[in-house]
Amino acid sequence: MSTEVIKDIIHFIREVYNTPSGFISLHEPRFTGNEKKYLLECIDSTMVSSVGKFVDRFEADVAGYTGAKYAVATVNGTAALHIALMMAGVERDDEVIVQPVTFIATLNAISYIGAHSVFIDVDRDTMSLSPDKLEDFLKKNTEIRDGKCLNKTTKRAIKAVVPMHTFGLPARIEQIASICSKYHVTLIEDAAESIGSYYKGKHTGTFGLMGTLSFNGNKTITTGGGGMIITDDEALAKKIKHITTTAKILHKWEYKHDMIGYNYRLPNLNAALGCAQMESLPGYIENKRKLAKKYEEFFSKTGVKFITELSDCRSNYWLNAIVLDDLNQRNSFLTITNENGIMTRPIWELMPRLEMFKNCQKENLENAEWLADRVVNIPSSVIL
Ligand SMILES: *Cc1c(COP(=O)(O)O)cnc(C)c1O
Repeated sequence: MSTEVIKDIIHFIREVYNTPSGFISLHEPRFTGNEKKYLLECIDSTMVSSVGKFVDRFEADVAGYTGAKYAVATVNGTAALHIALMMAGVERDDEVIVQPVTFIATLNAISYIGAHSVFIDVDRDTMSLSPDKLEDFLKKNTEIRDGKCLNKTTKRAIKAVVPMHTFGLPARIEQIASICSKYHVTLIEDAAESIGSYYKGKHTGTFGLMGTLSFNGNKTITTGGGGMIITDDEALAKKIKHITTTAKILHKWEYKHDMIGYNYRLPNLNAALGCAQMESLPGYIENKRKLAKKYEEFFSKTGVKFITELSDCRSNYWLNAIVLDDLNQRNSFLTITNENGIMTRPIWELMPRLEMFKNCQKENLENAEWLADRVVNIPSSVIL
């Protein structure tokens, strides 16, 4: 890619964001609705913390939007993953299958439990867990004993699979779900990046026993910090609510707790922001999909590969991504764009390359390695 082409790309991005000079970030939050009004309501009523009406409303809004029967808000997406894994029965020295292309939160949550991650490759087009490679691995390396999936190499139980819908692009989740049930492992979707993304008309995060969302500041919508567990299982949802709210037994004045709980609840203040953001979400998704279309058309003319959703999917295009020729080209693209005030980022360092996870079992990760050398995220904020 010539410097000329990179200059063209910079010019295009500046035009799209109507920002002829100055910094353009990768993804910044938008507060275009009732955010201030709801926050003021919290402050005026003193209900800023663990009690207040916005938490219930936010949970109902997210359940309604995603089509999940239940939603439980948490303090962030990492906490949501931590609890979802516990609720799936993952214990110390169990194993959880993950993709090497993800944000550190997925791996941290597994480690908090003392469980081990096993890395299976992604597909190049979705950048998310590959069902074919997952099935290959399970077929060759596991046996089912007493209804449990045992890893023949490590002698440990594989309890869960946690695919992640990378940058909002839906994974081949239907296939993944059917493989999980065939091999008796629980499916938890890390849908932190994919609110508003659908696979064959069904919202991501609703294909497994649980899905987890994040409302961190860089996500499609934000509560400052926040997360959510979605599920169709009523008893499970009740248990999640209980354990994330210090496991306190409901009583007017007594403080009694029936198990070790977690203070993972979302404050009402953050939920107020979430309620306002949920009102804006459909418009934001439309806006982001229009931007992706513009990028797709532009990049098709420059001969640069722009990553698009599978034909039967609808991506929220949280972060738009292009594929460059090789590591050198990627690095010069990153240097020139960032030097010119356009924020671009490579994909995360692959998880098994990090010190803490380098001894985890891993299969051939050729697609992840290929993508890590080539993929760059480009500015993706909602255009005002
Ligand atoms: C953002 C994110 C999370 C959750 O992060 P929090 O900052 O804890 O909300 C989890 N997984 C992935 C893939 C993410 O991108």
